[in-house]
Amino acid sequence: MQQDIPWHLENFIGGSFIGPLSGNFIDNFNPATGEVSGKIPDSNEQDVAVAVKAAQKAFTTWSVTPLEKRFEILNRIAELIDDNKELFALAESNDNGKPLWLSRKVDIPRASANFRFFATGIMHFAAESHQMEDSAINYTLRQPIGVVGCISPWNLPLYLFTWKIAPALAAGNCVIAKPSEVTPLTAFLLGRVVKEAGLPDGVLNILHGTGPVTGEAIIQHPAIKAISFTGSTRAGARIASVAAPVFKKLSLELGGKNPNIIFADCDWEKMMNTTVQSSFANQGQICLCGSRILVEASIYDKFKTEFVERVKALKVGDPMDEKSKQGAIVSKVHFEKVMGCIEKAKEEGGTILVGGQAVQPEGRCANGWFIQPTVIEGVGPDTVTNQEEIFGPVVTIQKFNTEEEALQLANATQYGLAATIWTSNLTRAHRVGARVESGIIWINCWLLRDLRTPFGGVKNSGVGREGGWEALRFFTEAKNICVQL
Ligand code: NAD
Repeated sequence: MQQDIPWHLENFIGGSFIGPLSGNFIDNFNPATGEVSGKIPDSNEQDVAVAVKAAQKAFTTWSVTPLEKRFEILNRIAELIDDNKELFALAESNDNGKPLWLSRKVDIPRASANFRFFATGIMHFAAESHQMEDSAINYTLRQPIGVVGCISPWNLPLYLFTWKIAPALAAGNCVIAKPSEVTPLTAFLLGRVVKEAGLPDGVLNILHGTGPVTGEAIIQHPAIKAISFTGSTRAGARIASVAAPVFKKLSLELGGKNPNIIFADCDWEKMMNTTVQSSFANQGQICLCGSRILVEASIYDKFKTEFVERVKALKVGDPMDEKSKQGAIVSKVHFEKVMGCIEKAKEEGGTILVGGQAVQPEGRCANGWFIQPTVIEGVGPDTVTNQEEIFGPVVTIQKFNTEEEALQLANATQYGLAATIWTSNLTRAHRVGARVESGIIWINCWLLRDLRTPFGGVKNSGVGREGGWEALRFFTEAKNICVQL
């Protein structure tokens, strides 16, 4: 596969790389250096219209392509991502600011795993049959929807992009996909991979541009019948307001403010190691990070002292340096937002136990956007700091005395994506797990992912579930056929 990345990226439409019809491009930045690293198409509704035409044409054959053939092509895509892992990992780190070791270890292997998982999944996906004694038999067809839209965020760029695209394609749909304008590179490279893998032209179309222009054109296009979106709750609400009145199928994976509940009887070492990760992995920019740490009063002081020590030791620096545990914040806008949240926490009476400052590494990253991992104490459950998603390397710690109080604190936000519970009392773990208002609960672990399980949130964290059969059901329409016997 071609290894260079052009300065001006192009859209991938109908199997060809083409510039935006307007001729306009927007800047892309490397957040570790603060420098412009290229230009991306500022695509508008005309580009989307051309892509939809290509997708509609491709749908007539892709929707009836045998499963074995779809399996073969999706598997080939996975192989080609693996073969080009170094290129993908480097592009991802340059675009997002995450440490290169993290892209190599998590983002890129997970993207190929998504294709492999759904390539296999579609071979085993079955529909139901219901018999009415001896009078009739009902069987359900699971047919592809048609042209669908997949829109993803910047935090795990290729990983979340492929998490939507792979099941959509496996189920026989044609896709109009838009990565975040903040991290377009690996999505661009995916266009080259699918071309080489032999995916027919027009089956996957990748468009670049901003949410308010390109994203809006996708969600508003009448021929796009379903939207799978991952991103902020604010954008999710906007998308729902456009899609609901015209009855588009919607899957919304939105923000979180996840509690990490730590009981005194936990496995201390395991909890400590994992809590450092669940707080600050990917600079805290994972929707599943535990940003509100709730600690039982009897171990609160011990936890605070040791946690702060460990967080102090996390090296922030050049994503290309193997020793950097923390890379850059994804963009200047987001850097300013997170720094603003730290200021807000201080105004709300919070004490910064560690961190709280921007970091200016020496050398090539001197102008990058880095923030020290930050731990805040002394802000109550109703503060903006504990209510609004920060989505950066910032966590708060709060104390609880009883299980009931832990639950009240855990459930005291508008969000309900994920939660972590640390205890060696399994009865309590099950009891608390059932009562925390979240779509995903981890007991004595974090981010342990089985791709077959339902993935998604409750409350303002989203609507619908991804993963396993849930994703294949989302990307198909059920049609019941009743035959009288
Ligand atoms: P964002 O909502 O700003 O953007 C996400 C994507 O939507 C981007 O591609 C953007 O261009 C597009 N977009 C924005 N407005 C749009 C509109 N009106 N119409 C169509 N598309 C639009 O989110 P972000 O800042 O890129 O990502 C961070 C957010 O994503 C956080 O809130 C985080 O919690 C959330 N997230 C959730 C999950 C999950 O699985 N629940 C996973 C990762 C990230």
